Amino acid sequence: MAVRAATATGLGLMIFLCAVSVLAQPPGPNQMPSVIQVPEAARATANFDAIAATNAYLAQISPEKTARSDTYFEGGYWMILWDFLYGVVVALLLLNLRWSARMRDLAERLTRFKPLQTFAYWVQYLILVSLLTFPLTVYEDYFREHKYGLATQTFGPWMGDQLKGLGVGLVLGGLLTMLLFGVVRRLPRTWWIWGAGVTFVFLIFVVLIAPVYIVPIFYKVTPLNNPKIVDPILRLARQNGIPAKDVYEMNESTKSTRMSANVSGFGNTMRITLNDNLLRRGSPEEIQAVMGHEMGHYVLNHIYKSLTFSLIVIVVAFGYLRWSLAWALKRWGEKWQIRGIGDTAVLPLVLLLSSVFGFVITPVMNTYTRTQEYEADMYGLNTSRQPDGFAQAAIHLGEYRKMSPGPMEEWIFFDHPSGRNRIYAAMRWKAENLKLFSAPAEPTAALAPAQPADANKK
Ligand SMILES: [Zn+2]
Repeated sequence: MAVRAATATGLGLMIFLCAVSVLAQPPGPNQMPSVIQVPEAARATANFDAIAATNAYLAQISPEKTARSDTYFEGGYWMILWDFLYGVVVALLLLNLRWSARMRDLAERLTRFKPLQTFAYWVQYLILVSLLTFPLTVYEDYFREHKYGLATQTFGPWMGDQLKGLGVGLVLGGLLTMLLFGVVRRLPRTWWIWGAGVTFVFLIFVVLIAPVYIVPIFYKVTPLNNPKIVDPILRLARQNGIPAKDVYEMNESTKSTRMSANVSGFGNTMRITLNDNLLRRGSPEEIQAVMGHEMGHYVLNHIYKSLTFSLIVIVVAFGYLRWSLAWALKRWGEKWQIRGIGDTAVLPLVLLLSSVFGFVITPVMNTYTRTQEYEADMYGLNTSRQPDGFAQAAIHLGEYRKMSPGPMEEWIFFDHPSGRNRIYAAMRWKAENLKLFSAPAEPTAALAPAQPADANKK
């Protein structure tokens, strides 16, 4: 999942991305073979066995590469914990050293107009927090990615993207913060219900504008145009009721070696985007398999379902915030010089409590996403009929994902099915549709009437 461009204020939620990743030239130490042959055990023969075929695919990855991508991916588990703890420490610093209260005082001196005070606070807050968390950001997003051969950016352009992300965070985060504090000040008793509603509408707004106004800040996005590659893709799209104008390409190779594709947007802006790493490096079968998966997200309305699910999560989160904010302010409010929940100085506490909530529900969110990804996998197999292309994509993803986790590990940490499970699902599908792949029986020369080659038969 390539949800990394728009940072800062939980914008990750806003672009619905499901990445399917791979490599770019030149192949680095961590890269899987670009061309993956169908192994002997996965060929369509009478004694085809899905488990043997799965194991044969997995055997194409060398032990060294498995160890390396496992280390990268397991490091990601720890990053969830370090990100959380680091964020907690920064929030507690801002509260206990009363920097938050001082930023509020400064904002009040700058203007008497309440919404502008909120915005002035937000600007100071976001810049200060970005600076304090910068060491972790630069390690996680720059050095660690380079160490594993996944990043292609030098430091300058990477830093440029960070600043753009900060700009997006200032505007969108500022807008949401002003709206929410306005709600809290006007409706001090029922703010949590209305706040949840405002947050939900804001989320829809951001999902709507993201593909058109936010993604292009970071990437060049163009309609697919190379006919050799796109004709089969657009044919597949039309067969599934997706207009050609809804399929785009994005130049992710300027930043990353990952192969990825995603569905984003809402209503008129909903679209499928394939990145250039996938288009250049994937085999035609692989590209079609990935495209089939993305079409699954599109046709199965996963964006709308995810938004509905996020409404539930947002309401629960605001209910929890109402309770936990009251509890924390009663104990430490005076010490932190926070006047109440309508005081902008409360913001680090709000985000601290929200991050506790987010940390605890990580497995729930992952399981929700993983379930949808599995649905898209099955839709993709049925529509593309490319189980071997799909297995190739799963192997390419193995460059930065653990292929064979334990069941609990998969349940807690995986937002996509593991590579092993994805390949197995593809091979099981192949076993059940073996006739599609078998060579047609040789017609007996004497009986076969002369006829033009039948293009429909494989
Ligand atoms: Zn997906």
